[in-house]
Amino acid sequence: MSKSKGAEKMAKAETYEDLPPLPLMDVLTDTVPMPSWRAMKPVIHNEKCTKCYVCWKFCPDMAIAIDDEGYPVIHLGFCKGCGICANECAPEAIEMVRED
Ligand code: SF4
Ligand code: SF4
Repeated sequence: MSKSKGAEKMAKAETYEDLPPLPLMDVLTDTVPMPSWRAMKPVIHNEKCTKCYVCWKFCPDMAIAIDDEGYPVIHLGFCKGCGICANECAPEAIEMVRED
């Protein structure tokens, strides 16, 4: 299946400023806290992470930050558990696990 124009622009974007004008959040979703209905949550395995930041770019919730060592960190207080980050991570460094 071919990518939409929006998806192609997203894939080429290297910084936030390159992103197309889509309905994305540009701040952490502190007004939309973690929902009680989240069934799965992402866990990042740093040993597999290549620091490509594709997860950061595609998270629709801006729930991913970058730590001092350059690794992505999930803000579980805001993550909705959609799994997009895990789906987009080519080296499969993000695992979706069941909530406790
Ligand atoms: S998409 Fe995967 S490899 Fe890239 S920064 Fe995120 S966790 Fe690391
Ligand atoms: S599971 Fe969804 S909301 Fe949570 S960090 Fe990944 S892409 Fe963002």
